[in-house]
Amino acid sequence: ASAALRESRKSNGVYVYDKAIHEKIARLALVERELRKAISNGELQVYLQPIVQTSTHDIVGFEALARFIHPTIGFVPPDEFIPIAEQSGLMVDLGDSVIKQSVQMVKKLQNGAMKGKAFYVAINVSAKQFEGHSLANKVVSLLQQHQLPTSSIRLEVTETAIMQDMDMALNELSALRENGIKIALDDFGTGYSSLSYLQTLPIDVLKIDRSFVTDLDTQENKAAIIKTVFGLANLLSLDVVAEGVETEAELKTIESIGTMNIQGYYFSAPLPWEKINAFIDSYLNIEIGSS
Ligand code: C2E
Ligand code: MG
Ligand code: MG
Ligand code: MG
Repeated sequence: ASAALRESRKSNGVYVYDKAIHEKIARLALVERELRKAISNGELQVYLQPIVQTSTHDIVGFEALARFIHPTIGFVPPDEFIPIAEQSGLMVDLGDSVIKQSVQMVKKLQNGAMKGKAFYVAINVSAKQFEGHSLANKVVSLLQQHQLPTSSIRLEVTETAIMQDMDMALNELSALRENGIKIALDDFGTGYSSLSYLQTLPIDVLKIDRSFVTDLDTQENKAAIIKTVFGLANLLSLDVVAEGVETEAELKTIESIGTMNIQGYYFSAPLPWEKINAFIDSYLNIEIGSS
């Protein structure tokens, strides 16, 4: 609520109480209240989006994406509820729920549709989860409990999150990496993107933001950016994931640049757990059938 008020003061110079602001505040309060309930009732969901490798089209992993689907307010997008969780002290509980569900899904996939295959689940984390210095311990002990290798989880963090408290983030990310957990820099290219940071940050993967992938087959500057990032990543020994691949033309252009991991609606939207096994089974059948 106070964020909306501050915003109105900032933009108008004076405080104006109007209907739009009132509605904004009411919506924030509603989402916060219902989100709090959903988290404590275990109703926050995790969807998985497959990540595939360009050269083989093998599924190499999945990104875990939080989903808040409320019985009356309906689908609330993460871009709306994640900032609310961060500002209202809910982010650690939300993050814990996502981590726990993700690890359980890794275990079930390992015994099920992904049996015998190496794969990871990539979990998004926010800066708030670095506070208290317990993230690495939490993740590592959860993996131990489930007898899973640390390579079965990756964490995705944005530059913005790292910059919020650089020392704390670097400590926590280093601790995670020392335990063998790979770190991806998410939304790469949209943040501060200071190239000098890249060689010092404790990261393993560059995740190229969707904005560079959309229409890269027709916009040469985007293809050039991806080529450059791909080359840079190779020099720095980082893996690359391109997100937001929606069309075959985008896929082909990316494949012409190099071997990397990709995700996007072209392969699959994020799927609820109930649909993931069927997707993997049919995907594997098509792949085998077509090769
Ligand atoms: P992100 O981590 O960059 O996740 C990728 C977003 O792109 C997801 O949006 C995904 O559904 C969407 N996406 C994937 N492929 C395509 C495509 O081909 N086309 C289009 N148009 N979109 C595609 P989503 O699920 O709405 O999540 C938005 C953001 O919310 C995420 O961006 C991430 O920053 C944040 N988020 C989601 N779940 C969590 C979570 O559990 N914890 C934290 N801290 N943040 C989360
Ligand atoms: Mg992500
Ligand atoms: Mg991203
Ligand atoms: Mg994003």
